[in-house]
Amino acid sequence: MLKKALEGEPKYRFKQCYRAIFVDLAESWSEASSLPVELREKLEEVCPISIRAEMKEDAGGSEKALITLADGLAIETVLIAHEDGRNTVCVSSQVGCPMGCLFCATGRIGFKRNLTRDEIVEQVLLFARRLKLSGDKVTNVVFMGMGEPFLNYDNVMAAIKFLNDPDTINLGARRFSISTAGVTHGIKKLAAEKLEVNLAFSLHAADEATRSKIMPINKKFPLPAVLKEINKYTEKTRRRVMFEYVMIDGINDSPKQAEELARLLKGYLGFVNLISYNRTDMFRPSSAESIRRFKQVLEKNRLPAVERHRFGESIEAACGQLSARKNR
Ligand code: SF4
Repeated sequence: MLKKALEGEPKYRFKQCYRAIFVDLAESWSEASSLPVELREKLEEVCPISIRAEMKEDAGGSEKALITLADGLAIETVLIAHEDGRNTVCVSSQVGCPMGCLFCATGRIGFKRNLTRDEIVEQVLLFARRLKLSGDKVTNVVFMGMGEPFLNYDNVMAAIKFLNDPDTINLGARRFSISTAGVTHGIKKLAAEKLEVNLAFSLHAADEATRSKIMPINKKFPLPAVLKEINKYTEKTRRRVMFEYVMIDGINDSPKQAEELARLLKGYLGFVNLISYNRTDMFRPSSAESIRRFKQVLEKNRLPAVERHRFGESIEAACGQLSARKNR
């Protein structure tokens, strides 16, 4: 749309516009002082750069945006401000999700459509603008919001390449992580990419029966097949994989299940990320004591594990809770 709006203008205008959007992080064309006033007015009319978003802030420092897209559908993006100064934007790759994980609000919306490259970029841009106000920057981007990124592979990679470009946000490839529920062909493709993007796998249960119960996709992409592909990925890239494990009370949080997990991941290049669950009407979060015991078992078995800082309970940070309501 921008290219069309700039037809008849000198070539360097395009670069100026890009600079205004991605380097100066202008919120509207009126701030693009390098452009003539008439052009700013024209662009504001035909190609506005404002982003329609409702913000919700959490006492813990995270912030959630409910972004309304051009067709009226809504997606969620979360900014996690870490104590060590990192600012991670958790982006969505689809509106809704076809994977249907039972513990996830997005899974219950069902699948609406894939996001375009620009709709993914826009989520990062929104928080880059907000952080600029306090002199901060986006330092990491994780594809852990709504949707399965590997079912929208081309647009996800196009967005990463765009944000990695020195003429835009210029975020290093290693600052990106893609989280998959186990789409094997996506893992294979990522291993072949030149960009060194991180991989995370939403494991959530070490045995097939429990995993199939809470993640129906396990029947299509069973654990042995996914782990085989992950092994090939780590052999090729030598990059550690993050195994995500959401702690759900009475479902996957017993010491016996921790032993099984340690056995399953023995020898893999990676670590486990234990995630506190945000309560839904179906499941409850594991107690702090269960998480502590679970972690102890992993550590006893020499499986590195970290506990993801609980964030966003008061802003309904469980993926899809806000947009489920809006898209209904
Ligand atoms: S957890 Fe992820 S893969 Fe599963 S339904 Fe939710 S968004 Fe989709």
